[in-house]
Amino acid sequence: MKVMKFGGTSVGSPERMRDVAALITRSGEKAFVVLSAMSGTTNLLVEICGFLYRKDVPRAEELIGVLSERYHTHVQKLYESETWKMRTTAFIDKTFDYLRSFTTDIFTGYEERCILAQGELISTTMLANLLAERGVKARLLPALDFMRTDKYGEPDQPCIKEKLTTLLAANDDCQIYITQGFICRNAFGEVDNLGRGGSDYTASLIGAALDSGEVQIWTDIDGMHNNDPRIVENTSPVRRLSYEEAAELAFFGAKILHPTCIEPARDCGVPVRLLNTMEPDAEGTLISGESCQGGIKAIAAKDSITAITIHASKGVLVSSFQKHVFDAFEHYQTAIDVAGTSQANTIIAFTDNRHTDDIVEEIESVGVVEVESDCCIVCVVGDILCQGVSHGSTILNALKGIPVKMVSLGASKYSLSLLISMKYKKEVLQRLSDAIL
Ligand code: ASP
Ligand code: MG
Repeated sequence: MKVMKFGGTSVGSPERMRDVAALITRSGEKAFVVLSAMSGTTNLLVEICGFLYRKDVPRAEELIGVLSERYHTHVQKLYESETWKMRTTAFIDKTFDYLRSFTTDIFTGYEERCILAQGELISTTMLANLLAERGVKARLLPALDFMRTDKYGEPDQPCIKEKLTTLLAANDDCQIYITQGFICRNAFGEVDNLGRGGSDYTASLIGAALDSGEVQIWTDIDGMHNNDPRIVENTSPVRRLSYEEAAELAFFGAKILHPTCIEPARDCGVPVRLLNTMEPDAEGTLISGESCQGGIKAIAAKDSITAITIHASKGVLVSSFQKHVFDAFEHYQTAIDVAGTSQANTIIAFTDNRHTDDIVEEIESVGVVEVESDCCIVCVVGDILCQGVSHGSTILNALKGIPVKMVSLGASKYSLSLLISMKYKKEVLQRLSDAIL
């Protein structure tokens, strides 16, 4: 059975939601459908939580009102019959009463996670009701009944598989199964989520649990492009990517796919296809275990990078210097994106800058530290280390005159990363596009 995941914009208006209903039923085959919240919803819920943390109840209530208004309008336009308008309105009213109940009591991370779950709970109910109105044999299988994380916050795959298999066996008579992306229960059984943008991850976890024939990620663009179409001219879709190439591209900034999505699919050998709801018959991008030799596939860029350079103080042993530097990142649970070291000098680039000052303070005991914010990592993805093909020199030649702060080649077989100042991003992407794609 195929898993079909639709993002926020694909279900963002009554028209688009009807398109999704048509798409999932057109083949007549069974499908497992994963939905995000309607576009803008989760951001608004995050804002509401912000006001509730600050005890600004009037502003929270105002936003709850805005969101409620939006959903009531959608419901009127989405359904044909009064019966389904009324049923869905009743559900929406109940959800917004629930949201309003949080304005009167204490507010912690637990309450926040309950609020953030509402977007997906609404969108899936709306679609399930639409299919019911049309007489399609569809069933909503609540993600909170099977999507679990363990005590480390990681998906508990054996548990997910077992619960999902049981649920499907009990609902064998359906054509379409619908569930919420993003949300889950944690090891304590509380409502939780897989992190922002986590619906892709949900789809991949379900695909792996069901040993699905294909996980389809439906968005608004014809597959993964070979460069950022918002910045560079003449980009084109990449037709095939290996799991490794797709993971590098998602990690280094390609917005179409969440970085966590690849792993479960790769582990079970389930192909992932990126498709376009606006052009459902277009080929899209197929991500699978097959890779093609020697070629460059695409370029991506990750913004808002901080880079720190450390020069070891005199008398500090090189080996303990390096340990000290990397330990500081571990102490503050800050993931490193790219690093380069040369004897007593190290440069480290990372995204999460919440603890930069603490990290710097810790490292200063072994060296002199320079911090540079506003950097960008540009990543070229493909069969970079292919024997006899000098991708590295072609890439660096294309960047003559641009101050590149660091190059990482060889750590991954499938990518070459360049650290540059943010102000050169557009020029670097364009020059690389012209030279190597
Ligand atoms: N609705 C969630 C978010 O906006 C999850 C997702 O859309 O993938 O982060
Ligand atoms: Mg997304």
